[in-house]
Amino acid sequence: MTDPPSSRANEGEISQSSVTSERVAATRVLRVVVIAPHPDDAELGMGGSIARLVAEGHQVLILDMTDGEPTPKGSRALRAAESEAATRVLGCQRQQLGLRNREVTHTLEARHAVAEVLRAWQCDTMFIPHPEDAHPDHRAATRIAEDARFDAKLTQSAIAGTPIHPKRLFYYYCTHLRTIPSPSFALDTTEFVEVKRASILAYRSQVIDHAPNRGLLDWLEARDRFIGSQVGTLAAEPFWSRELLSPSGLAGLVP
Ligand SMILES: [Zn+2]
Repeated sequence: MTDPPSSRANEGEISQSSVTSERVAATRVLRVVVIAPHPDDAELGMGGSIARLVAEGHQVLILDMTDGEPTPKGSRALRAAESEAATRVLGCQRQQLGLRNREVTHTLEARHAVAEVLRAWQCDTMFIPHPEDAHPDHRAATRIAEDARFDAKLTQSAIAGTPIHPKRLFYYYCTHLRTIPSPSFALDTTEFVEVKRASILAYRSQVIDHAPNRGLLDWLEARDRFIGSQVGTLAAEPFWSRELLSPSGLAGLVP
């Protein structure tokens, strides 16, 4: 993982107006962390939005809780190579926390490990899995992430790094349930349908070699088209916010 972008102006002769404009520009670059239980969950749930955020100039880190293995057709080496390829397609950065696949548990150690990543990245915006899910790893990852957001702001703690409180936390849908519970908003991903598809197809061991999952890509694209139809775009990805949203103006709200 590379360092997050600095929001400080360079030392030297800089006019007040350029300092001010730099400060304004810096506040517009979001430092996003997408927390994923397994490599591929971020792509499946919000690959189009990740590609869009990157294209808009935001800094995006995918933090995988586990390496995702074992799976029926995968291996650790194969999954790592697939994950690396998907990350290149999306243009974001990626890190793995090292928890054990199928055994993700909501512990203090896991919370603090995630909080350290949030601090190192100086994260201001989190995307985490929706809490309603059939997969125990997914539910545990959500609880860990929610508490890590709180832990990351604590002073006088054993957590390494500078305290930070990510001010935005949104939930995305990588659920193993056959439902999309109550999305709050959707992001238009029309321009990033192909990128999302390529990032998912990078996980050949999961979506092609494993026969029961071969319909997954079509199902997801149908979902994104349906969500898009609800907001007047060709494709969109759904998100949920537990907290009240406050847009900066009405003009950006569509439809
Ligand atoms: Zn998963």
